[in-house]
Amino acid sequence: MADPILRDGCSQAPRCSVVVLAALVAAMGSGSSVAAAAPDDSSPDWSYAGESGPAHWGELAAANETCAKGLSQSPINLSQTQPVVFTPLSFQYRSQRLEAVNRGHGVHVLSPPGSALLVRGDAYDLEEFNFHVPGEHGFNGVTAEAEIHLVHRDRQGGYVIVAVPVRAGERENRILSRILDYLPMRSGEQVRYRQVGINPIFLLPNDHSYFRYEGSLVTPPCTEPVLWFVMREALEVSPWQIQRMAQAVGTNARPLQPLNGRPVFSLFRQ
Ligand SMILES: [Zn+2]
Repeated sequence: MADPILRDGCSQAPRCSVVVLAALVAAMGSGSSVAAAAPDDSSPDWSYAGESGPAHWGELAAANETCAKGLSQSPINLSQTQPVVFTPLSFQYRSQRLEAVNRGHGVHVLSPPGSALLVRGDAYDLEEFNFHVPGEHGFNGVTAEAEIHLVHRDRQGGYVIVAVPVRAGERENRILSRILDYLPMRSGEQVRYRQVGINPIFLLPNDHSYFRYEGSLVTPPCTEPVLWFVMREALEVSPWQIQRMAQAVGTNARPLQPLNGRPVFSLFRQ
């Protein structure tokens, strides 16, 4: 398969140089995964299985209390929904250089200032996007093969996350390939590629119909509230791309959380 990345942005240069800012704290062979944690990871360490798995997140640290006691946790199953008038989500995303960090629990692609989501005149700045395998939200009880979260913050620091279910099909997603080819695979590894341009707009499905509900972060400290927009239509990618995502992030889906009477709205384009 031809590699489109090295062509793009490199045509003027005699040789394409790739800058890798790698903070390979884990490379010392200490065997400790904690040593590889990124600075903004809250300690102690948590995981997706066993004694530090999702059922125990709330006990691991006082700061994680909401994981156990919160009544508006995510992800949820989307089944009984209330149809309301469609309000368009306006994605004002710009092209950016690929910059990503592997925090052990997942890979985060960082977004510089300049990309935003507009909803009814309110602007939410895109901070990062990340990948989950398998998908987290349920669609009438069925989760997708993967899920992408586009994480935004408003001026007050409030979270707005757009979730995109991802399913394996015939077509390869070109931008996703570009990202996957350069994802940091080791915990603690951070990369920045001057020559690799990406635009997260291409990670959205064609139909921007969505579900809306109030939930939480899906990782400790499980902060509430988070305004969730979950896309109805899945992004189609190739089976290889799902595999590659799984290699980078492992299994990192939190189980479905109780709805506790929360309303879930469906905003479908007519
Ligand atoms: Zn996520």
